[in-house]
Amino acid sequence: MIATASRTCPICASCKVDVLHEISFELPTSSPLPSNYRVVSCETCGMVYADSESSQKNYDKYYEQFSKYEDTKTASGGGYTPSDRSRLDEMASVLAEHLKPSDSILDIGCVNGGLLEALSCRGFTNLTGIDPSLVSIEHIQQRGFKGYASIISELNKDKVGKYKAIIISHVLEHIFDVTSTMEIMKSLLDEDGLLYIEVPDALHYFHHYVVPFYYFDPEHINHFDYHALINLADLHGFEVISWSEKTIRISDNIDYPAIYAIFKKHPTGNPYRIELSFDLKSSVLNFIEQSKQDNKIKKIEYYANNGNPIILWGAGSYTQRLMASTRLLECNIVAIVDSDKNKQGLYLHSIPIQYPDIVHNLEGTIIISAALYAEEIKRDISAMGLKNTVAILC
Ligand SMILES: [Zn+2]
Repeated sequence: MIATASRTCPICASCKVDVLHEISFELPTSSPLPSNYRVVSCETCGMVYADSESSQKNYDKYYEQFSKYEDTKTASGGGYTPSDRSRLDEMASVLAEHLKPSDSILDIGCVNGGLLEALSCRGFTNLTGIDPSLVSIEHIQQRGFKGYASIISELNKDKVGKYKAIIISHVLEHIFDVTSTMEIMKSLLDEDGLLYIEVPDALHYFHHYVVPFYYFDPEHINHFDYHALINLADLHGFEVISWSEKTIRISDNIDYPAIYAIFKKHPTGNPYRIELSFDLKSSVLNFIEQSKQDNKIKKIEYYANNGNPIILWGAGSYTQRLMASTRLLECNIVAIVDSDKNKQGLYLHSIPIQYPDIVHNLEGTIIISAALYAEEIKRDISAMGLKNTVAILC
């Protein structure tokens, strides 16, 4: 259905879109993010994105206050697990092909500094990180790196200096105002500097299916593919010097599709041209269809009908989506637990999110509702010696 978007296209600023899907979430109390949006594709450039009436300010507030990425146990980006370390080392090796050890490097959205650490191990000495989470910046300073706790819109060269390379990895898909972010990064980059962008590759959501609508969550609001990155670069006066698709191992058995590109400033700006990406829209539509056909969540009906007590384990975006789109809230939920410390004290539909320890005192079937970590949670349940019946929604 062709419509006019409330949010203009993050790449080309057009507002003529095709509506591909509408999605809702039961968000934790006080979340500043929108609880529903339309997934749309831009009729001008083919970019797929979340259309809502939100603002960059709401997202800034969210990442300052609700950062799940500062947790040194569960968050990726810190290099705390072997798979995260090897992912970051691979990125560092790609960057090392283009940079000298003394080059100044800025990692925007550095979380706990795992990439800075990987670069340091490869001999890089001039390393700085920026993140909205003060806790993350304290972590990277403890690891010996320069760091600034700041949102992107407040960065300028007087505050943080200029750099030979800027890395923005798995951040741009979270940004409401992509245009301003690109211009700010350009202003912080030396004339011969390099910009490394890495994002989830929406062209391959279909090939890396996890659970229904997994890739549409409250945080990921921009769905790029190669063409989208090239269009973005063109419009902001960059040219691509290298790019590749890749996959990232994000849990025991799940690979996540990603794409990176390295850009440099085009000497004369770039001729304005937009290449329409046809494949992105059709590929995302395939993913939507695949999600609709999935019956994994049918067992929610069973628990909604029999009214037996259930303990919901996992309060992430999968649960938030299921609460808004299935009969999960009609089930007899006696507790919601999650090991993420940033979720403690929050409520989902007036039910407090608590640490898993409380399950020791509870009767009811444990329902694991976590897209990625079901196997890990199963191991935790067994390590805790819990005797409750366990069911998995993924
Ligand atoms: Zn567009």
